Amino acid sequence: MKIIPLSEGSFTVDVTKKFIPFRLSEDEMIARPQGSLLVQVQPFLVVTSKDILLLDTGLGFDHPAGGRLQLVQHLAENGFQTGDITKVLMSHLHKDHTGGMVNPAAGKPTFENATYYIQEREVAYAKERGAPSYDLSKIDPVFSGKVELLKEDAGTIDGYINYEVTGAHSKYHQVFWIRENDETIFFGADDAPQYQQMKHRFAAKYDFDGKKAMELRAKWWEQGKREQWQLLFYHDTHQPTVIPDTAA
Ligand SMILES: [Zn+2]
Repeated sequence: MKIIPLSEGSFTVDVTKKFIPFRLSEDEMIARPQGSLLVQVQPFLVVTSKDILLLDTGLGFDHPAGGRLQLVQHLAENGFQTGDITKVLMSHLHKDHTGGMVNPAAGKPTFENATYYIQEREVAYAKERGAPSYDLSKIDPVFSGKVELLKEDAGTIDGYINYEVTGAHSKYHQVFWIRENDETIFFGADDAPQYQQMKHRFAAKYDFDGKKAMELRAKWWEQGKREQWQLLFYHDTHQPTVIPDTAA
């Protein structure tokens, strides 16, 4: 399988949940506002023999070079059009993951041929909670397209993609394993957002259940080592993908 990280850059984010662009090379030495996190925002394209998968959809900012989504521009730079995407796998619906789901001007899904896989209970929860964590204007229009609402705590999509609801980072957050031939790609999204967090145990205050996320990371890291998973890190500023055994 081929993995293409589609980085939207680095951002600082604090309790207000605003994502402020941060230029790593120039700003690195400047103190960040206190209590803010430095994160990458990084959807992934995964090309399998059956599908062109998109894992989460970024912040939804427009590309500076012209009025289209950064995400769409990045796909084009890698030789893909919006119509090429066959499945969009959504880990959860926080706004830094849903920004590119829809074209707000058209009121339609950005990826016109894709089926969007979303956890049903996360949709209800997003509607209940709203801002600042959720942006419903980027969620509602997706239902005019093809959406498969996942209802179970765990299941299989198309025979080779497994999902599991963890309820760790957000109440109905889900993670995915994509398996083909001898390869396993693991997308833990915000339950496992950065490489360093896999190796150092800590419970994050920004998680719905920080202790559970911490335990899951330790479990996945060990299993990933044994089974040679390729891990994808949505918020890692330096290492988008890591295979544990070969990692420093
Ligand atoms: Zn996130």
